[in-house]
Amino acid sequence: MPTELLIVLKAAEAAANWHSGQRRKGVAGEPYVNHLIEVASLVAEATNGEDPHLTAAALLHDAVEDQNIPLSQIASMFGEDVAALVGEVTDDKSLPRHERKRLQVEHAPHKSPRAKLLKLADKTSNVRALSLSPPDWTLERRREYVRWACEVVAGLGQASPYLQEQFEAAVRQAERDLEGAD
Ligand code: ZN
Repeated sequence: MPTELLIVLKAAEAAANWHSGQRRKGVAGEPYVNHLIEVASLVAEATNGEDPHLTAAALLHDAVEDQNIPLSQIASMFGEDVAALVGEVTDDKSLPRHERKRLQVEHAPHKSPRAKLLKLADKTSNVRALSLSPPDWTLERRREYVRWACEVVAGLGQASPYLQEQFEAAVRQAERDLEGAD
């Protein structure tokens, strides 16, 4: 088996195990791994399947933040390149939520091009979820989330025209849903 395919499958397997008890925040409570696979698919599409390390990193991008998997473990299992990408998109959980969100906006322009692409795919999946399976949030909080996601994405610049389109379509859908909601 090509090593590229193996690394992506092994990352999917690790992600499914590590996040096995985690659900998405939406009403449907989908398994969290659905989000990870969606982000990995978006990244793979945006790179024509030519960046397996980035695709593996997409599968693992929430493992440190949500499951406290040490980056060193990701490095020993998947190599330094994958671990560095995961590290680039991992927030410092010791900071308050508001501060973490502010820093995402501030840091977005300074990420590597591949980390930018991964962040754009992540935000696309999260904004899509506001329409497909809305969390139990007030409308104002949902609007605020969309505004914040747009700010982060603006800082990512031209990471990927394809993903940019996907993101904008998700924002338009979320705005339509939120307009009709009150
Ligand atoms: Zn995510």
